[in-house]
Amino acid sequence: MHPLAVETSQLTSTEPSWASASSEKLETELIAKYGESQRARLNRGLHQVSEFWRVEDGDAQELEDFVRTNFAGDQTTLDTMFTRLESLFEQLDGHMHEINREFRQQLDLDRGPILPFDEVVGGYDPSAHVLDDFFANKLGFTVLLNFPLTTLDERLKEGPEWSRRQWAEVRLAQRFSKRIPAEVSLAIAQADAESNKYIAEYNIWMHHLLTPQGQRLFPPKMRLLSHWNLRDEIKADYPDKQNGLAKQRMIQQVMERIVTQTIPASVINNPGVDWNPQSNEVTPAAVKDSELAGNAEASNFREPDTRYAMLRKTFFAAKKADPYSPTEPTLIARRFEEDREIPEARVKAMLEQVVTSPLVAQTAKLIQSRLGRPLEPFDIWYNGFRPGSQYSEAELDAKVEKKYPSAEAYQKDIPNLLMKLGFSSERAQYLAKHIAVDPSRGAGHAMGAGMRSERAHLRTRIDKNGMDYKGFNVAVHEMGHTVEQTFSLNDVDHTLLQGVPNTAFTEAFAFVFQGHDLELLGLPAPDARSQAERILNDFWGTYEISGVALVDMAVWHWMYDHPQATPTELNHATVQIAKDTWNRYYAPVFHKSDVVLLGVYSHMIDSFLYLPDYPIGHLIAFQIEEQMKKAGAIGPEFERMAVMGRVTPDLWMEHATGRPVGAEALLEAAHHALTVVSSPQ
Ligand SMILES: [Zn+2]
Repeated sequence: MHPLAVETSQLTSTEPSWASASSEKLETELIAKYGESQRARLNRGLHQVSEFWRVEDGDAQELEDFVRTNFAGDQTTLDTMFTRLESLFEQLDGHMHEINREFRQQLDLDRGPILPFDEVVGGYDPSAHVLDDFFANKLGFTVLLNFPLTTLDERLKEGPEWSRRQWAEVRLAQRFSKRIPAEVSLAIAQADAESNKYIAEYNIWMHHLLTPQGQRLFPPKMRLLSHWNLRDEIKADYPDKQNGLAKQRMIQQVMERIVTQTIPASVINNPGVDWNPQSNEVTPAAVKDSELAGNAEASNFREPDTRYAMLRKTFFAAKKADPYSPTEPTLIARRFEEDREIPEARVKAMLEQVVTSPLVAQTAKLIQSRLGRPLEPFDIWYNGFRPGSQYSEAELDAKVEKKYPSAEAYQKDIPNLLMKLGFSSERAQYLAKHIAVDPSRGAGHAMGAGMRSERAHLRTRIDKNGMDYKGFNVAVHEMGHTVEQTFSLNDVDHTLLQGVPNTAFTEAFAFVFQGHDLELLGLPAPDARSQAERILNDFWGTYEISGVALVDMAVWHWMYDHPQATPTELNHATVQIAKDTWNRYYAPVFHKSDVVLLGVYSHMIDSFLYLPDYPIGHLIAFQIEEQMKKAGAIGPEFERMAVMGRVTPDLWMEHATGRPVGAEALLEAAHHALTVVSSPQ
């Protein structure tokens, strides 16, 4: 047995041995004091406290005194406790966020050179130890003693009947649903950093790839990071009529060798050798296109399953937290039940609904006719669905530059822009007051506030000549975020419910705004054909990423089922899972089996089961977008949806659209788009 596995399996509970005797004693005593009506609450509170109490928190006497002092045994005390804590946590979160925002200013804003210490300041997280502090001073135990911890199952089944106050109590208690020891958090952070580094340095030197005839298809100096740059190069190669196809096939071979780990270790991040990915032959580089020294030792020893050793490290680190998370005792459960709040089985069913849709074959046929050849596996990254534009980028740039020479000019125009999106003049003014526009260093981003006395910050890129069209398009997206952030903090009835169920929801709002950017410039909206092209692009992308997510999910299950597996065994299992997934959902469309491409995503190695967020995000975006279309004006509908706050995604979506989260909106839109695109122009 692996040593880490022994260590974690012994830690099934942290509860002290005397805890149950103390609980019985307290129950008798406190029911006598507060009455029978408090029995259920008290039992739950005692159970929750003893589940998290450790020997170092105190002995039986201390626990008993703590409970006697802090159990709110009547409604008035409980109400006071709830109201005060709600307000205090708003202040705490809001100020922590404020410090973080201030500390990041030099990194985030267009304010001149960054000095080394700015990176340290920007990386500082003032809230990192808050949870530990609140278990140490026992405020966390006070919450656990008085408010209910819930499972996702309870939130889904009973949540629709709960009052808003009950929902707020549930979110209050959830802050303390895990008590991960510092050394476990550190182990997770280390595995995260190590796997990130492995991924970040996994470059392929493209000019050093040789065809069987010894040709170099890619230009000198081209260095592509796996898998993102490799995938984007496949996309970029479609217009290349001469070598595009040969390049795409070669990249596919490289990706397959990464997944199967038959890639020679010497070709990773090394411009010192040439490599023929087909025969796998490695030779000293015959050309020099890099300042980097490179290692000319031409060995074709394969990478020794390092990819899977990294993945396995993240698994062991994540597993260490299992015993300290009683309501979600696996990483899989924490991802789906705590972070996403959609049960894994439902997510799986939604993704399968996408990948088995008959619309996939229809879309594939359309792609095939546009390409003029049968599909090849790398065409899962086909990107030829593009909205046409009546205006050149230069025309749009000129228009935007004139309108927005500075961040202040955009700030001033916000009420006007919002009114064009259907907000009343009163709401537009109100929102504008809550949004601060700052010139950003990067492309732009939105940073909401954590408390009502703060504004949301819209960061946008302003060049010397002013804003360009790309910058405007991003600014409109970010404005969508800041409007959502303002409503869901300032207009939600409980600050404990501030926000949206997860990031997919705020992205959806941002995309709705972004989709109307031309109209905001006083130009006509994209025509039906352009809209249909965009929808098909999203649909094909969702089809691709759904398969990738299904592989990620199956691999994590396999790791939990085989905790002692070696990196080589994990390699074989992952390859088999990627093939099985391909054979089931992609082979019928591509007419080729046993393809391993679905296993190439780098986030599968370093991101702890993050990939399902992508397809879920697409589905949610379509639901919200379709609902906005049905409602007509964006403004009032946006506000109605956004003030629901952070309940479960399904409850939120039922309130917003009348249906739970699902694939139907995307599939209906894709169906319609196929009709539009197929009709004569
Ligand atoms: Zn966004």
